[in-house]
Amino acid sequence: MENLTMSQLLFPSIDKTPADYEAEYPPRELADGAKVTRFAPSPTGFLHFGSLFAAFIAAKTAGSDGVFYLRIEDTDKKREVENAVAGIVDGLSVFGIVPDEGALEDDKEIGNYGPYTQSKRTLIYQAYVKDLVEQGLAYPCFMTEEEIASVREKQEAEKVLPGIYGEYAIYRDITVEEAQKRIDNGEEYVVRLKSPGRPDGRITFKDEIKGKIEMPENILDVVLLKKDGTPTYHFAHAVDDHLMRTTHVTRGDEWISSVPIHLQLFRVLGFKPPKYAHIAPIMKEDAETGGKRKLSKRKDPEAAVEFYAEAGYPAGAVNEYLMTIANSNYEDWRRANKTESIDKFGFKLSKMSKAGALFDLVKLHDVSKTYISTMNADEVYDAVEKWSARYDERLHKLITADEDYARKIFSIERGNKKPRKDIGKWSEVKDYIAYFYDDLFDGIRGWAENISETDRSAILSRYLEMYDPNGSAEEWFPTVQELAAEQGFARSPKEYKQAPESYKGHAGDVAGVIRAAVTGRLNTPDLYTIMQVMGEDKVKERIEQALER
Ligand code: GLU
Repeated sequence: MENLTMSQLLFPSIDKTPADYEAEYPPRELADGAKVTRFAPSPTGFLHFGSLFAAFIAAKTAGSDGVFYLRIEDTDKKREVENAVAGIVDGLSVFGIVPDEGALEDDKEIGNYGPYTQSKRTLIYQAYVKDLVEQGLAYPCFMTEEEIASVREKQEAEKVLPGIYGEYAIYRDITVEEAQKRIDNGEEYVVRLKSPGRPDGRITFKDEIKGKIEMPENILDVVLLKKDGTPTYHFAHAVDDHLMRTTHVTRGDEWISSVPIHLQLFRVLGFKPPKYAHIAPIMKEDAETGGKRKLSKRKDPEAAVEFYAEAGYPAGAVNEYLMTIANSNYEDWRRANKTESIDKFGFKLSKMSKAGALFDLVKLHDVSKTYISTMNADEVYDAVEKWSARYDERLHKLITADEDYARKIFSIERGNKKPRKDIGKWSEVKDYIAYFYDDLFDGIRGWAENISETDRSAILSRYLEMYDPNGSAEEWFPTVQELAAEQGFARSPKEYKQAPESYKGHAGDVAGVIRAAVTGRLNTPDLYTIMQVMGEDKVKERIEQALER
């Protein structure tokens, strides 16, 4: 009776009960074993690579049978920035991570388990707290900041667990009359859990990533509702994960120390606890100390998700890389299943690193090169067009001025069995294709050193005479061999090796001179194809220019 009166005193206008909400948000009708996961960021306006990773893990855990939703945890209004929700949604969608449900913008959402923004759920939280008060499991606490500070001092001096519990929880057994008096007096209060924890109790739980964990039971009378009636993160997440029917909580392992509080909250609320999977932070080798440290927002540009978009790493490549650091057996799977969709891989939480995967930009670049090598010319063109529209105006102008030409350039040595891995990110494209455009061509970067200037000129002048723009691929190398023989070079490396003293070099060296004249480089994709794409005029012009110098 006393408890009922107390609950009515604290929440006179709350008329809905937990039973009402249970009915409003019934268990989901999903296939057996389907998982419900969430990404639950605070809207602080910065999407960290670690958060992208956490969202990726949540999305992959739900897979195609389950539900992955986005919940905005804005209980801490001080940290909030404007338009952060849209920023998070856009930031994720760049990498193809699109929640099935949840907050989409500040005022828009999809799904039947909302609202998905905590600040819009205050009445729900209060209904659950009211119910706890009515059961004698929560109480109003009128301690002032000063009182709490002096308790802390005393606890520090006595070297005991800090916090409000046991003898320090002076309002645990407050009567309705006293509460009424203080409220009438205008005193502020929070609502605390009356923790049922035993001082020497232990709890164990199985973390899906870290395995079995044993910890001391929670004995703190943690705050459920703050003075302004809004919930703490601990309380809100318990109510939300229950009502949104979350089956797997995947989140950063900085939350492990809170699990005893969370499991206790689920218990007193009468909820079935979700499975927890605590993700170790992404680590990085520290150049200064040689040791490992967390990827840092302050020190590492690659900690910001925008870094990847700006550099032009394709979303698919970043996903490949995320999976590589998520499950170390992914790379082997990918090698054996080159063209399969990433979704066919059997991602497992239990195969994630317990200690923290190491971030490696060189590896990302490699993964991305392989990824881009499997794209076809039209996909590359479309991606470069889109990227350059935003990040490189000059490149954008060049490729869109003659789309057909650009598509032909991107098709060189693509789609064959062993595609070249020349491009790792779209910001490398301009340099990669520079010699196809007079505007970008920066001249000859260097000649092979083993060929004299006289021989070079002779080769180029003769080639100009022999060059047949309509010649077939089959005819191209025999022509070079003929030219080689005529100029004192061997027809093949083999022939050259048998009698190196009789030759100036071999046909490959001769082709190298033509390559350098036409493209400015010693290394390029197939030269015949390049010349076909460039066309007669440009090929001749390049060779003539080279001869003039
Ligand atoms: N809002 C919490 C954070 O910002 C989420 C923790 C969780 O996923 O439970 O890290």
